Amino acid sequence: MDCIFCKIIKGELPSAKIYEDADTLAFLDIGPVNKGHALVIPKAHVEQFIDMDNEAAENLIVAVKKVVQAVLKGVGADGINVMTSNGEAAGQVVPHVHFHLIPRFKGDGFKFWPQGKYEEREMEEIAGKIRGEMLK
Ligand code: AMP
Ligand code: ZN
Repeated sequence: MDCIFCKIIKGELPSAKIYEDADTLAFLDIGPVNKGHALVIPKAHVEQFIDMDNEAAENLIVAVKKVVQAVLKGVGADGINVMTSNGEAAGQVVPHVHFHLIPRFKGDGFKFWPQGKYEEREMEEIAGKIRGEMLK
């Protein structure tokens, strides 16, 4: 398999590891937003978080929570962004599930999302469509 994160798991590529358990590996992102930016990945290759079975997703989230605390304290951050992109359109470049843990510092000035606006009634219409999907 050509996946770079699978190669890191197998030790075929180097990484700055910070945590490992039976199902999970965490290491520093090579291109950090801020120093200490970490990635938490499942050892089993799945492309997107939304495709993981519930048990695997739960294991991963519990590991993310542990690593969050260590990153916060380890780099003395004031806050932390925890996010995972699902699919190319969402900005996912590496097709192996990964959570970004991005330590944040007061005044670091990063802003991730632009904010848009809804037209009249549009917000309720969209909420209705999503609610409809929840019932399926
Ligand atoms: P994404 O854009 O969400 O798919 O994020 C992929 C992340 O993986 C990027 O932030 C990269 O900097 C990071 N990355 C790619 N290759 C490596 C590597 N060999 N070691 C550590 N981080 C990596
Ligand atoms: Zn992989």
